[in-house]
Amino acid sequence: MEGRQGLPKRASDGFKSGRAFGPAMALDPVCGTPVNPHSAFWMIWYKGTPYYFCGEECQMAFDRKPEEYRERALERRENERIY
Ligand SMILES: [Zn+2]
Repeated sequence: MEGRQGLPKRASDGFKSGRAFGPAMALDPVCGTPVNPHSAFWMIWYKGTPYYFCGEECQMAFDRKPEEYRERALERRENERIY
């Protein structure tokens, strides 16, 4: 005989641990989409800073003109104070 099996289980329980848009979100420097660094699949280290992307296309676009997107990302960070 097993113990109690009547524990309440809801599918959403696992998603309650964090907010969707907390302060830890990074911005895709190419298209501006918020990307969760913890689950980001596409990422590039450039000059000591990690950049996260929503998809392969954005990552490749960054790879082609890293300097241009890096400057844009820096401007945006100063404007919005995203750390
Ligand atoms: Zn993107």
